[in-house]
Amino acid sequence: MTITPKPTRKRPETAIYERRESRVRSYARAMPREFTSAKGAWMHDSEGGRYLDFLSGCSSLNYGHNHPVLKEALLDYIASDGVTHGLDLYTSAKTDFLETFENVILKPRGLDYRAMFTGPTGTNAVEAAIKLARKVTGREMVIAFTNGFHGMTLGALACTGNAGKRSGAGVPLNHVSHEPFDGYFGPDVDTAELLEQRLSDPSSGLDAPAAILVETVQGEGGLNVASPEWLRSIARIAKRHGALLIIDDIQAGCGRTGSFFSFESMGFTPDIVTLAKSLSGMGLPFALTLFRPDLDIWSPGEHNGTFRGNNHAFVTATATLRHFWQNDSFEEDIARRSEILGDRLSTIASRHGLTTCGRGMMQGIDMGDGETASAVCAQAFERGLVIETSGAHDQIVKVLAPLTIEDSELTAGLDILDKCIDLAMSPVLGAAA
Ligand SMILES: *Cc1c(COP(=O)(O)O)cnc(C)c1O
Repeated sequence: MTITPKPTRKRPETAIYERRESRVRSYARAMPREFTSAKGAWMHDSEGGRYLDFLSGCSSLNYGHNHPVLKEALLDYIASDGVTHGLDLYTSAKTDFLETFENVILKPRGLDYRAMFTGPTGTNAVEAAIKLARKVTGREMVIAFTNGFHGMTLGALACTGNAGKRSGAGVPLNHVSHEPFDGYFGPDVDTAELLEQRLSDPSSGLDAPAAILVETVQGEGGLNVASPEWLRSIARIAKRHGALLIIDDIQAGCGRTGSFFSFESMGFTPDIVTLAKSLSGMGLPFALTLFRPDLDIWSPGEHNGTFRGNNHAFVTATATLRHFWQNDSFEEDIARRSEILGDRLSTIASRHGLTTCGRGMMQGIDMGDGETASAVCAQAFERGLVIETSGAHDQIVKVLAPLTIEDSELTAGLDILDKCIDLAMSPVLGAAA
């Protein structure tokens, strides 16, 4: 792949955004181009530029942009005047989704969950999960973790660690205790043991929790990986103290870490699971809260919403399950690509004395500080690679390529990243670039 830096200049088509769109916009600031089309791992802008997408809508596009199988299913459904909006009415699209989800995902994994269709974004699924846990247990307090990210509405935001995000709330973010995640104090401190100690001590000041809410790999929080042993301890602690274990699989699920759920084969079963981001597979909004049938104590309409379930998303989600998850071949592809990714990132990191982080197809490099990491991403964008940072100090350059990316495309993107990290880590080259 040839590397031809594009000139940076103010583009007339972005003026409307500065004039009319709120300052709250964020990703667009680092990538001020007008994108016109996208297919597979590629995005195109209005000036003929093309970009490899190593961001994938923050893992909302695990199957790439406009996957032909998903697109065809959706076009057929629209062409046949399939119901687009139906509140929570039974529709053929919804029937297909639930039956396919039961047969392809739940049954083979021995999982027995009820599905609650919440409002369409991830934060809605988290709100429903913690609301249900509080309702079931009659307790208020939720345990979340340092660097956890769970969404922007008040309940989910209270569970989110990031101070910049929390500062937008405008009211106290209460009833959540942020406990240290796995490895927070380094490898020698078992933070699950600390939590157990505090919960067992009637004088610790930590109230009995309704739920323990955790990501197996912290997506926005810096690709911190919880070990299976730690997660098993957390599951045991939840059970012992009468709290429900909620796995927020919104970013790590749908294949991102290698299996459909990120906690598969770890030897515990969450009481509640949230899914969103890549659940529809097409980038259509669609979120789901799954829970043990005996927890289903909602009264009809008690947690309502106009856009619960999204029939177009049901159609594309069903197509992802049928096309990718009926046998092992997709998981084998993800495993191979994860290895290519991990090997290459390790090589780059060790050359510069940096460290890697993450698991599966959500891995990255810790650049040490936010300035260096964003310089790498800016350089990458100029060379046709869409990539972003994560972590408490935005210090992690995070690779979230589509899971369907061709091996050669993955390598081409990593070549660009390699070059940009070289530039950022070499002051002389960096200044000249
Ligand atoms: C993105 C994300 C959310 C919030 O989802 P939205 O669709 O942005 O509301 C919640 N939890 C995790 C782990 C996420 O990555």
